[in-house]
Amino acid sequence: MKDGANLKKLGEFGLIERFARQISTGKGVVLGIGDDAAAFQPSPGRINLITTDMLIEGIHFDLSLCDPLSLGRKALSVNLSDIAAMGGEPRHFLLSLAIPPAMTLDFLDNCFTGMLQRAEQFGVTLIGGDTCASPATLVLSLTVLGEQFPDRIVPRSGARPGDRIFVTGTIGDSALGLRLLQQGERQGSAIVRHLDPLPRVLEGRALAEANIPSAMIDLSDGLLADLGHILDLSAAGARIHSEALPLSADFRGHFPAITEQTLSLALAGGEDYELLFTVPPEKISHVLPLMEKLGTPVSAIGTITEERKLAVIGPDGTEISLDRKGFDHFS
Ligand code: ADP
Ligand code: MG
Repeated sequence: MKDGANLKKLGEFGLIERFARQISTGKGVVLGIGDDAAAFQPSPGRINLITTDMLIEGIHFDLSLCDPLSLGRKALSVNLSDIAAMGGEPRHFLLSLAIPPAMTLDFLDNCFTGMLQRAEQFGVTLIGGDTCASPATLVLSLTVLGEQFPDRIVPRSGARPGDRIFVTGTIGDSALGLRLLQQGERQGSAIVRHLDPLPRVLEGRALAEANIPSAMIDLSDGLLADLGHILDLSAAGARIHSEALPLSADFRGHFPAITEQTLSLALAGGEDYELLFTVPPEKISHVLPLMEKLGTPVSAIGTITEERKLAVIGPDGTEISLDRKGFDHFS
């Protein structure tokens, strides 16, 4: 265990020092890594957004199925996705690590490199964190700080009957990718979607800036579950049309017949990291041109209803009943 020994020799402070050396000072950062707390200056007129998400080995990832570069990128992406869903601009992040005895320095270096690649891509700076030993599994806990003009925050609670429901990109690819990984495959676009999702930060910001969505959420637990959160908080229901769901060519290639099972995978599989948003009737025509400018596909998949029920309507106009509703850690 040459690498393990390296990590031991380096020690907690050596590792923090090794990470800190690779960080350049970000815009607005008054004090970064190294002091008791970080200090940063928000842009004038904006308020802070803050979000945190953990990735736990054995729950969120399996070290035999993922590479450290992608894992590092994904850990940041899933957090950036939450800032995107508020229409915000991500600025800084904190990284807390719980490291098991068997972890190698090489793995940590690559994981950190991946994280910094994504950080650079979205203009965020690492400003602190915590580093501990873990008895058995690796834990990556990230906190992302972002900012937004107070009147541009897009809540989950703003959907109203008659609003159209849109979703960016395609859904179900990540769930398919995980299934393929578990079956022994290692390549393909669905696997990339699972291991290395890209957050829709630009899309979220552009939508909020144009004041288009009445409500917005990122898809982490599966479309049905996440739309369900919007419906709960907006005290509304929705009708989704199965034929309007955006399924990738790859997804359709794997499932030539769209059955209830494949629909379940697309609607409840989770980890799509697309944005789902609702749009009042008078703004519907603004959505496509804006997303076209960004080169991002977007689909209208249904409508918000007064009746507090989430219905998926099949091609023949009748309701499809799906038993899997989405991912829940405790069920
Ligand atoms: P304290 O004991 O005061 O909590 P630490 O020794 O935990 O301080 O951390 C020292 C400095 O290193 C702090 O600025 C902290 O934010 C930073 N830090 C610790 N772990 C990490 C990490 N994994 N990534 C980035 N910064 C870190
Ligand atoms: Mg600490």
